[in-house]
Amino acid sequence: MDSRGHAAPTRVLVTGGSGLLGKAIEHVVHEEGGRLEGEEWIFISSKEANLLDIEQTRAAFEKYHPTHIIHLAAKVGGLYQHMRENLQFLRDNLKINDNVLQTAHEMGATKVVSCLSSCIFPDKTTYPIDETMIHNGPPHDSNFGYSYAKRMIDVQNRAYFGQHGRCYTAVIPTNVFGPYDNFNIDNGHVLSALMHKTLTAKRDGTTLTVCGSGTSQRQFIYSLDLGRLILWVLREYSEIDPIILSVGEEEEVTIKDALEMITQSMDFKGPIRFDTAMSDGQLKKTASNAKLRRYLPDFTFTPLREAIKTTCDWLVANYDSART
Ligand code: NAP
Ligand code: GDP
Repeated sequence: MDSRGHAAPTRVLVTGGSGLLGKAIEHVVHEEGGRLEGEEWIFISSKEANLLDIEQTRAAFEKYHPTHIIHLAAKVGGLYQHMRENLQFLRDNLKINDNVLQTAHEMGATKVVSCLSSCIFPDKTTYPIDETMIHNGPPHDSNFGYSYAKRMIDVQNRAYFGQHGRCYTAVIPTNVFGPYDNFNIDNGHVLSALMHKTLTAKRDGTTLTVCGSGTSQRQFIYSLDLGRLILWVLREYSEIDPIILSVGEEEEVTIKDALEMITQSMDFKGPIRFDTAMSDGQLKKTASNAKLRRYLPDFTFTPLREAIKTTCDWLVANYDSART
């Protein structure tokens, strides 16, 4: 409330606003009528504030005085970039997260929704994995830097609540994809990298090379579905404990299955080679969406084949400006 008893305005600051998920949330807010009356939304990228730097972090918060934060900014990459750069993933993400959470607290932001990931779960585990199991053992070796940094968000959220009563929480998405993804072949995640490789192989008449055996399994969530769910978390979800945002366990597919959807969407009929000398990473990380379903039993996810087709079409139409 302000001094006249009016409700304080809601100003939502989205860090990582230029990325895959930031763009999806921007779409939901501005194109799907997701913005409520009286809400102001601000999307920032590293160009506006490098969140590795505490002074730039504070300057951004002083400029906008957000009441709510969706914290997406992170050093993000696919399996093979993680294997090469575990130290950078650890240090950058620890710094960004500490700068954002502490500045949010110092400036009195009432709610922060941060992003964990299902790849931070213990490697040796029983399935399906749920929200209570995050800290139950070491993560997979391939991405331990990113995983430990992300796990610390959950630890910090509990400490901000315990010491200051802050409602800082986190979501745990499974593998995300969609328009505005990073389609870089060396650093991107599996679907975006394979879409770009398929496009290139079709254009050049070359072999499409898939990394690994294609047998590992993933639950893919379309970025727009995730954006809609994160808006719900911002408004309705009041737990400090995180929540898995994912399609059901029965929607898990192999990399081979997903590849078939990509090649069909792009009408690629050329040769395909599986480079089994390359790591498969985690064979699976099956996550339970039972908690989400208790809150939102009727939420409808976009069918994977349809979302892959839309994303392939987006890449073809936006190749010159896409992150490739
Ligand atoms: P993304 O497309 O790579 O976007 C990353 C965003 O973070 C960009 O807006 C980038 O800004 C910003 N950023 C990076 N370093 C920064 C810095 N030092 N200072 C300020 N901003 C910085 O990633 P995404 O896929 O949207 O990921 C969003 C969140 O979801 C992340 O927290 C990620 O860990 C989590 N997540 C992603 C997946 C997935 O499969 N993609 C799965 C689970 C969880 P610039 O554009 O200026 O570089
Ligand atoms: P992860 O889900 O955290 O392991 O990350 P990714 O999105 O990078 O997916 C990695 C899985 O996709 C592994 O099983 C890889 O072997 C497989 N994969 C197949 N081809 C590619 C590719 O071109 N790039 C990436 N990143 N992964 C690939």
